[in-house]
Amino acid sequence: MRKNIVAGNWKMNKTLQEGIELASEVKNMLTQTPECEVVLGVPFIHLAAIAALVKDSPIKVSAENCADEEQGAYTGEVSAAMVRSTGAEYVILGHSERRAYYHETCEILKKKTLLALKNNLKPIFCIGEVKQEREAGKQNEVVKEQLEGSLFNLLPEQFSNIVLAYEPVWAIGTGLTATPEQAQEMHAYIRSLIAAKYGQEIADNTSILYGGSCNAQNAASLFANPDVDGGLIGGAALKATDFKAIIDAR
Ligand code: PEP
Repeated sequence: MRKNIVAGNWKMNKTLQEGIELASEVKNMLTQTPECEVVLGVPFIHLAAIAALVKDSPIKVSAENCADEEQGAYTGEVSAAMVRSTGAEYVILGHSERRAYYHETCEILKKKTLLALKNNLKPIFCIGEVKQEREAGKQNEVVKEQLEGSLFNLLPEQFSNIVLAYEPVWAIGTGLTATPEQAQEMHAYIRSLIAAKYGQEIADNTSILYGGSCNAQNAASLFANPDVDGGLIGGAALKATDFKAIIDAR
């Protein structure tokens, strides 16, 4: 059966020293094995140090991105193989900030996903509609296109390594959270698309996380939904006590 996952996305926050401190705090707070997989999504330069720090703990480490090329003359880029070599096991792909500010298209994300999988990284693949699309009632259409455009080319055995994160863009960093009903409705729809493409067993085994202003107060009501398998957490992952409270809500 699918895993419950609570993953933090630190974005471009925390110096290396601050990041090590935060990861240590989270590690020290997990005195009992959590009931979900705990993932810290951290900047590239933090990966190796934090992967070493959490090595013998239940915490896994994720990059927030990887390159869409294998290797070579791409100054400033970080490949999937480099990410994997740090000890990281996950990579966040398709975050709305990367789609919007760095013009990452479905085609680019398709290449990144294939490279991540080839290098034994599990993608946490983000999908979700912007405010105008929700207001126009087009949210289902949008997520369907995002799935078809970047992931539905995968073979079933490849798709089985994908974690999805439904992140309505209007809820990210805004304090506006999807209601538990909106989250459940969309997650069930996403699962139905996976079932239609790959069959019910793969759909039932796919973890679908919710992301968008999820915090210590609202996590339990979001996670109580049958198709919500945890969360991708931005702002609230930057404080160990808040992140721990979200882990406990799962
Ligand atoms: C995110 O960036 O993935 C996110 C969910 O951010 P926040 O929790 O701050 O809305």
